[in-house]
Amino acid sequence: MFNKLRSFDDMGEPGEDDRWKPFDDLKAYMKKTFPTVDKDLKPLMLTGHLDVVPATTSLDRWTYPPFEGVIEEEWIYGRGTSDCKNNVIGILTALEYMLRNGWNPTRTIIAAFGMDEEVGGERGATTINDFLGKHYGPQGIAMIVDEGGMGIETLYGTQFALPGMAEKGYGNFVIQVDMAGGHSSVPSKHTSIGILSKIIAEIEDEDLFEPDMRQTSPMWGYMQCVATHGKDKVPRWITDAVRTKRPDLAKVGNKFASVSSANRYLIQTSKAATVITGGNKVNALPESAVVTINSRIDLYSDVAEVSQAYLAIMRKVANAHNLSIQGESNKDGDGYSIGNISLTVNQPGPPSPITPTDSSAFVVFAKAVQAAFGGDVITAPSSMTGNTDTRHYVSIE
Ligand SMILES: [Zn+2]
Repeated sequence: MFNKLRSFDDMGEPGEDDRWKPFDDLKAYMKKTFPTVDKDLKPLMLTGHLDVVPATTSLDRWTYPPFEGVIEEEWIYGRGTSDCKNNVIGILTALEYMLRNGWNPTRTIIAAFGMDEEVGGERGATTINDFLGKHYGPQGIAMIVDEGGMGIETLYGTQFALPGMAEKGYGNFVIQVDMAGGHSSVPSKHTSIGILSKIIAEIEDEDLFEPDMRQTSPMWGYMQCVATHGKDKVPRWITDAVRTKRPDLAKVGNKFASVSSANRYLIQTSKAATVITGGNKVNALPESAVVTINSRIDLYSDVAEVSQAYLAIMRKVANAHNLSIQGESNKDGDGYSIGNISLTVNQPGPPSPITPTDSSAFVVFAKAVQAAFGGDVITAPSSMTGNTDTRHYVSIE
């Protein structure tokens, strides 16, 4: 059963698509394995997700098959062990253990597990959100702790717990070039594929998005924590920036981003051409070519701003090749156009609000970390380059 909890992009509705069935088995297993977890406790919400991304390529590079859950000594090998059965089983094990040992929580604890996080959470987390929203109302939950990303890391001689205090926004920006078809023996100078290629190349080459470090950035909070609590060899650019009265945050952001891609995309909108289609016959000019640019949107940006950045590139290419944009002629006056370039945004999601660190929730979290992992583990703000089901829960937190 545990080797079938996968979410695919083309999943049908629960009840209709048999690939959801293993999740029913998992629910039954959890009820049986964690019998004392009481569904009527009060609202602190601990979440994770039950599904796993499929692993379809490079299967020979796995030490053990990704969905077998092989246990060797103290290690469990499997795709879901880090995302996200560790959280799910950890939450239930902790609740079960504490309840069995006579612990009497002062507030309700909700364990909320969606089954389609890896494909957007549209059926799982949204349903949980509707249900909880009806029971507890807007902002009816004291604190939501979702899977996060960074866990505990030793940095500069100190152990830091790094909860994601915010999640970037999301959008699949679909750019489509439509042009007249025809036979490849008498081609136009550019086909839709050629035009689309120019757009993709420009999007990759241009610095469309910049690092954005602000006083309110979780990663600025992170740098302050590291400078304060790091024991050895904290880089000078961090300690200097933190100790300066008026730090040049643009400079700090650029330096932070230059350390690694992992750093960069904590504070900058990403852009990646991930799916492309166009043409289906070797001797026919393709009527359309389509690319999806996947973007994880910076905390201080939004879907509209990212759309504008792509539209500017599209407009430039359209101008150079007599194409219209979004069905409207790009030319003044004559209206002459040999085709059209359009942009649509799929699955748009705004960046999350930023969790405040000067809150009692943050103090409770930091103390819980110390109780579980040791008094010298420091909780420092961090951020998330991706999103989780959390984005569906913003209205109830
Ligand atoms: Zn996950």
